[in-house]
Amino acid sequence: MKNKKLLMIPGPIEFDSKVISAMGVQTPSHTELSFIESFGNCLRLMKKVWLAPGGQPFIVSGSGTLAMDMAIANLVEPGDKVLVISTGYFGERFKDISIRYGANVTLLTAPIGEVVSLEDIEDELKNKDYKLLTITHVDTSTAVLVNPKPIADLAKKYEVLSILDGICSVAGEEIKQDDWGLDVIITASQKAIGVPPGLALVVVSQKALNVWKKRKTLVLNYYSDWGNWLPIMKAYEEGYPAYFGTPPVNLILALETSLKIILSEGMLNRIKRHQKLASAFRLAVFSLGLKLLPINTGIAANTLSAIYYPDNTDGGLFCSKMADNNVIIAGGLHPEIKSYYFRVGHMGSVSETDLITTLNALELSLRAINYNIDLGISLDTFKKEMSSY
Ligand code: PMP
Repeated sequence: MKNKKLLMIPGPIEFDSKVISAMGVQTPSHTELSFIESFGNCLRLMKKVWLAPGGQPFIVSGSGTLAMDMAIANLVEPGDKVLVISTGYFGERFKDISIRYGANVTLLTAPIGEVVSLEDIEDELKNKDYKLLTITHVDTSTAVLVNPKPIADLAKKYEVLSILDGICSVAGEEIKQDDWGLDVIITASQKAIGVPPGLALVVVSQKALNVWKKRKTLVLNYYSDWGNWLPIMKAYEEGYPAYFGTPPVNLILALETSLKIILSEGMLNRIKRHQKLASAFRLAVFSLGLKLLPINTGIAANTLSAIYYPDNTDGGLFCSKMADNNVIIAGGLHPEIKSYYFRVGHMGSVSETDLITTLNALELSLRAINYNIDLGISLDTFKKEMSSY
């Protein structure tokens, strides 16, 4: 498409044309055999992407926040203790949702750009009988990447359920749900899963389902209640029709296409591609004299980068210069530092060419705000780095 601007925000992303084509059909009935097969296929393929052969997937119409809501609504009963481990804006959202369902919440917040230490997490778990903890794998407001495995180990040690917000990580960062023993991993379609917005995707362990089955009180959210959705998911997986709420048929057809693309690349290759592109992009950003929000590259996400503007930059003006150069980026999101940084998404179908286009626009836009750089330096750094792999 001529003059199309490249969408480089951290979701929605640029989607594979095959995914977009899969959506563009006359909507079949949600009880038609071919659709039931596609839905069932999505559920089976999700288990492969999450590496959760023993998990129970749910596909529900809604955004990522609904997936967060569903996890908490089903597992929390009034008075339960919840430990929220936060690395930014989206971690805090788990606190708000848990309070809404009557939980007694403790929030452990990392300093901006850092992670919460395992010692602090263990101290908390030792001192209170938590029912569950939440982790944000990649907080999209800070681009901080948390290693969920040692936290999942602690959760198992203290017999606490674990929920991972993988909205900005599933199909982009390494995840092994069953091996690591994470109880719920959620995502949303518009991120590295590569489907337009509208699907809340959740995979739940059998352990968490058993805890849910033993609830003493009703789930306080009618739409999110697994009791309504579980029979539907089981029916679709077994190949027969069932109804609770009309599924977003065209999005599910797109999801099937995207999951097939993801698995044909292979999970290992896909994660490595994200790591390689992200690390070359970070070096290119450093070559421009810019700084990242995460305090070191060991905790920098591979699905997006959060980058400080040069001092005294008008962020709105800078983002509009980027758009003039045909690349759409996102401004800051963390309320405390919102106007000091911008974000570039690099997940899903993102390519080397997309990042070269972005760096080129970045250089031109920096020049336009009178930030002195040698034109081409970040492009050279990026290309050199990519060819050294
Ligand atoms: N968690 C994370 C880590 C996210 O990146 C987002 C969306 N940016 C959300 C939760 C909320 O998802 P949604 O906007 O789809 O409701």
